[in-house]
Amino acid sequence: MNRLTIFLSFLCFYFVQVSFGQPPMTDEQLRNWRNARMVSQFASPDWSGQLIKTSRTERIDNVLPVRGLAIAAPSVRAVDQFVRFIEEELAPAHFNMLILRVDWNYAYESHPELRDSDPLTRADVKKIVEACKRHNIQVAPQINLLGHQSWSSTTHNLLRVYPQFDEAPHIRTQDYADLPNPRTASNSLYCKSYCPLHPDVHKVVFALVDELMDVFEAHWFHAGMDEVFHLADERCPRCRGKCKAELFAGEVNKIQDHLAKRNRRLMIWADRLIDGQLTGLGAWEASMNNTAPAIDMINKDVYMCDWHYERADLTAVWFAMKGFDVATCPWRNPELAAIQLQNMLDFRRQTLRIAMGPRFQGIIQTVWSGADQFLRAYYDPASYTVAGSPADNTNAFVAQTVKRMMDEFKKLNE
Ligand SMILES: [Zn+2]
Repeated sequence: MNRLTIFLSFLCFYFVQVSFGQPPMTDEQLRNWRNARMVSQFASPDWSGQLIKTSRTERIDNVLPVRGLAIAAPSVRAVDQFVRFIEEELAPAHFNMLILRVDWNYAYESHPELRDSDPLTRADVKKIVEACKRHNIQVAPQINLLGHQSWSSTTHNLLRVYPQFDEAPHIRTQDYADLPNPRTASNSLYCKSYCPLHPDVHKVVFALVDELMDVFEAHWFHAGMDEVFHLADERCPRCRGKCKAELFAGEVNKIQDHLAKRNRRLMIWADRLIDGQLTGLGAWEASMNNTAPAIDMINKDVYMCDWHYERADLTAVWFAMKGFDVATCPWRNPELAAIQLQNMLDFRRQTLRIAMGPRFQGIIQTVWSGADQFLRAYYDPASYTVAGSPADNTNAFVAQTVKRMMDEFKKLNE
């Protein structure tokens, strides 16, 4: 061996030591590093430092970074009570995400013609925003985009004011069967969609989205997008014959791209991306209208809210394996919600050292009544003595489930 070879060998050995010879991170170091990363990714850019520095939730942040509540925005007269609920109930139970279905319940300046009759004002919204800021709770305002433009016989504001955006104007809402519709009949699809290819629809809806995101000072926007049944209608001159999965993915990506211009991110209900036939999950919490292949066409920055109310389905794994952040979303069964929470904790714990681990983000509890109605049930002691089937007394069981999640979150942070 000449000197040069000896020198090169030494150099090589030195680089190998530097590159690979460091003592490996301990499990705890690895966990802390990943969790710090996750918390900062989850936090909005404005709040990230604050969230890490002031957090008194290190224990639960490690195992369940996202603790959310998805609920309708309150009416004007319930704003103060709702703020108290945030301060006195959600915050002490370590909730850090509030998805608020606003839809038309805001005094939009960009499109006043789309306001509800007694909408939240800017001052009302700021009360909610300030309360959430004080407790490091991120608010994700929601407007249902694409689907859910009507409910049973009621057509909502967008298609009522702009009927030209209706994907299937020949289907009259007054002809829908009474809810719950027979789930197999072809005419059972009770909520209308807007046409995603109409040239003017995004000018209107993105103005609303931008205005809402600004007033809520939000990083996350929730677009709903669940139960989109009317897609590529055969009579739509723009969509007929087109692939439903491509149309759905195209609309999701368009919204995500719009949000990304201001470093914002999109959340959606994830049901259209699960194959209802293969899984047996059916036409509502999964898709029987050929939208499931969209999962491979959607931007990985989209955050999946995976809702299941009848069983603790394990579909969060599907989304994490596909590269998406995912939260499991329970509703009105406290025992089931506890199982769903445990599953999420297990998924995360078992995979934390591999790429998909941090994608198991947490739990987002859902409330599907109005917020005012929920608050009445939540503060009524009688709600907590009701037994029997959740389906027979939904308001009481939703209150019980929310309380159960609060108790579980508190235990996780002990
Ligand atoms: Zn169309």
